[in-house]
Amino acid sequence: MDQMFDKITLIGVGLIGSSVARVIRREGLTGHLTISTRTKETLDRARQLALGDDYVSDCAEAVRDADLVIVSVPVGASGMVAEQISTALKPGAIVTDAGSTKLSVVKQMQPHLPDNVHFIPGHPVAGTEQSGPDAGFAELFTNRWCILTPLPGTDEAALSRLKAFWERCGSTVETMDPEHHDMVLAIVSHLPHIIAYNIVGTADDLEMVTKSEVIKYSASGFRDFTRLAASDPTMWRDVCLHNRDAILEMLGRFAEDLSSLQRAIRWGDGEKLHDMFTRTRTIRRSIIEAGQETDAPDFGRQAVAQAEPEAEG
Ligand code: NAP
Repeated sequence: MDQMFDKITLIGVGLIGSSVARVIRREGLTGHLTISTRTKETLDRARQLALGDDYVSDCAEAVRDADLVIVSVPVGASGMVAEQISTALKPGAIVTDAGSTKLSVVKQMQPHLPDNVHFIPGHPVAGTEQSGPDAGFAELFTNRWCILTPLPGTDEAALSRLKAFWERCGSTVETMDPEHHDMVLAIVSHLPHIIAYNIVGTADDLEMVTKSEVIKYSASGFRDFTRLAASDPTMWRDVCLHNRDAILEMLGRFAEDLSSLQRAIRWGDGEKLHDMFTRTRTIRRSIIEAGQETDAPDFGRQAVAQAEPEAEG
C-alpha cells in the first residue's frame, strides 16, 4: 500500500463517489478520506457504510487541507459546488470531477476556482444503472477507461499525479480535449441511453400490446434496453441539457440512418439489411476482444443463474 495523498475529499457519494471511496480504502491511497454530500440522509448512509474517515455536510469545510478533491455530483450541480468550495481550497490542491460531460463542467467550474489550484476535469467511463452510496463497489473502475480533459497550461506534475491515482484505481487513463470527449461520449454513451429511454417509453405507451405482454416477452431484446433506461433520471436529464450540441448532432445522424433502414425494410431490400447487420456484428466482436464485454451467451446471464441458483428463487 502506497499512500498518494495526505487527504482526499469526495464531494458526492453516490455510485461513483462511493466506488472511489471503496477503491481508495482498498488501495490505501490516502491518510485521511473526507466525505461530503448534500443531504443528511446520504451522509448518514455513507457513515453507516464506513466509506470515509469523517463526514462533513458543508462542502467548503470538507475540502480544507485536502490535496485531492473529487466532485461526483450531477453535472448541472458542478458549478454550484465549485463556487461553494472556491475560497476553502488548499493552494496546490488538485480539483477534479467525474462528470459525464466535460465542456459544460469546465464552463461551470473554472470561473470559480482560484489560480493556485490544479483543476483537471475527468470522467471515469465506468458505471451501472444503479445510484446512491450502496450501489458502489471497489472494482467498478477495473479495466475501464478514465478520460482526463486537461486545460491549456495544466501543470504536468499534477496531471501525472491524477493519472497515477486513476491507474491505482484500476483504470487506464487517456487524455483528450473536452470538445472531443463530448462528441465521443455522445455516440457511445449518451445516444444509446436516449434511444433506450425512448424505446421503453414507446413500449409503455402502446395500446395494442399490453404491458404484461411487454414484460412477459421482454427477453427477446427489450429487456436489454430497460437496463439503460433504468439509469438515474437526474443524471441523464443533466447529461442531455449539458451536452446538447453533440447529442443533437448524433441524433440527427441517427435519424438519417434510421430513415435509410426504414426505406430498406419498406422496399424489401434484404441485401442492404444483411450487409448492415453483418457490419455491426463485427463491432461487437471488437468490443469483446478489447475486454469491454463478456462473450458469454446472453451477456453471461445463464452463467450467473447457474452460479447462484438461489437468486432465481
Ligand atoms: P448518484 O449515485 O445519483 O449520486 C449523486 C451524488 O450527487 C449524491 O451524493 C447526491 O447527494 C449528490 N447530488 C445530487 N444532486 C445534487 C445537487 N443538486 N447538488 C449537490 N449534490 C448533489 O450519481 P453518480 O452515478 O454517482 O454520478 C455522479 C457523477 O458521475 C455525475 O456527474 C455523472 O454524470 C457521473 N458519472 C456517472 C456514471 C454512472 O454510470 N452512473 C458513470 C460515469 C460518470 P445526495 O444524495 O446527498 O442528494
